[in-house]
Amino acid sequence: MTLSGKTALVTGGNRGIGLAVVKALAEAGATVHFTARSAANIAAARRELGDLPATGHHADMTDSVAMTTVLEQGFDILVNNAGIIGPIGRILDVSPEDWARNIQTNLIAAFHATQLALRHMVGQGGGTIVNLSSGAAHRPMEGWSAYCAGKAGLAMLTRSVHLEYAGHGIRVFGFAPGVVDTDMQRSIRASGINPVSQIPRENLAPADEPARAIAWLCTPAADALAGQDLDVRNPDLRRMVGLRALE
Ligand code: NDP
Repeated sequence: MTLSGKTALVTGGNRGIGLAVVKALAEAGATVHFTARSAANIAAARRELGDLPATGHHADMTDSVAMTTVLEQGFDILVNNAGIIGPIGRILDVSPEDWARNIQTNLIAAFHATQLALRHMVGQGGGTIVNLSSGAAHRPMEGWSAYCAGKAGLAMLTRSVHLEYAGHGIRVFGFAPGVVDTDMQRSIRASGINPVSQIPRENLAPADEPARAIAWLCTPAADALAGQDLDVRNPDLRRMVGLRALE
C-alpha cells in the first residue's frame, strides 16, 4: 500500500480515466476523494467502485466557489483529470463561446484547482499534482483547435508549477494517457474528422493502464521525472510502472 496515509482528489472521477484513477489510488492505499457534476454521477461511480472507499463531491470544475469548498480541506495529491474534447470542428465552424468553454474547463479550471491545492501543499512542505495531458498538447490536430490550445496551455502550466514550486517539495507531472477506450473517444469516432477518429475501438487502451501509471507517479519512485510532460506510450516509463510492452 504505497500511498497509505496520503489524501488525493481526482477531478471528474465519475467515469472514464478519472474513475480508473480513483480505483488505482484507492487500491494503492490513498484516501481518495473525487468530484463529479451531479449527485447521480457520484452514485453511479460509487456503484462501480464497490467496496473501495472513495468520497464523491458534487462540484463542476468551472465553479470556483464549489471547487474552493472541496479543496479547503487540503490534499497531498491532485489529479487534474476533468476535461472535454469539444467543440470538434474546423476553426471557421466552431463558436467562440464553445471554444472558450473548452479553455475554461481544460485550462483555467485546472489552474484554479492547482492554485487551491498548492496553498495547502506548499504550507505542508510537499505534494503531487498530475495534469492529464495529450499528444494534442504538442501537435495540432484537425478539428481540435480548442482542445490542442487548452492542453498546450496545461503543459506549460505543468512546467510553470515545476519552476516555481519544485523547491517547495511540489512534484508536478503532465501525463498523456494514450488513446483510451472512454466516452471521449466515442465522441471522437462519431466526428470522423481526423485520424484519431478512425482508430477502431478494439485498438484503444483500457483506462486502468494510464490509471496505474498515474498512481505510480504519486509515489517517490517517480521523483526524478517531476516537471515533465510524460506519455504512457514511452517504453521506459511503461517498464518502470510495470505495464505490458506495446507491439
Ligand atoms: P470522458 O469524457 O470519458 O470523461 C470526462 C470526465 O470529465 C467526466 O467525468 C466528466 O464529467 C468530467 N468533466 C468534464 N467537464 C467537467 C466539468 N466542467 N466539471 C467537472 N467534471 C467535468 O474523458 P476521458 O476519461 O477520456 O478523459 C479524461 C482526461 O484524459 C481528459 O482530461 C482528457 O482530455 C484526457 N485524455 C484522454 C484521452 C483518451 O483517449 N480518452 C487521450 C488524451 C487525454 P461528466 O460525467 O459530468 O461529463
